[in-house]
Amino acid sequence: MQPPDVDLIEQKRIEDRGFNDFIEEPDETGMQWIKRKEDDSCWFLTKDNKCQIYEVRPAVCRLEPFTIVDYDYENNTVELEPNFPFCEACGGFSEDGTVERAELVKAVQVLIGKILDLTAYDMELPVTDKRVQAEARSRLLRRTAEAADLNL
Ligand code: SF4
Repeated sequence: MQPPDVDLIEQKRIEDRGFNDFIEEPDETGMQWIKRKEDDSCWFLTKDNKCQIYEVRPAVCRLEPFTIVDYDYENNTVELEPNFPFCEACGGFSEDGTVERAELVKAVQVLIGKILDLTAYDMELPVTDKRVQAEARSRLLRRTAEAADLNL
């Protein structure tokens, strides 16, 4: 399984908990991925399937058990689908597995924001530019299709 990505804000929150050196070398897309352990699981997953940073886990983990498969920026709507969880520790928002709507919305906003920021950076255009929004949506759809093919 691919461990989650983190942006600079998420990285700082995790570092403030006393962790460091948990990020892979940045790839050509500029995304920062949490390291894998030898068994390919996330660096923060313990042997008894607990997340060491549960309180400050990245947005993609907070969104579990869903993943964003499409969004419409103009109408402010997002399409979600049930997902393969990143790890045993993700499994929903609370101990009883219930989903808090406010937390779901926040996680979606963070993830869409990350995609838009990276796309705007690559295209050297403002994040509000329609071309950025269109390209970000294409990237999201490509990434979703790849993940489905690879069973990530
Ligand atoms: S919830 Fe799982 S994938 Fe996410 S940071 Fe924690 S151990 Fe890693």
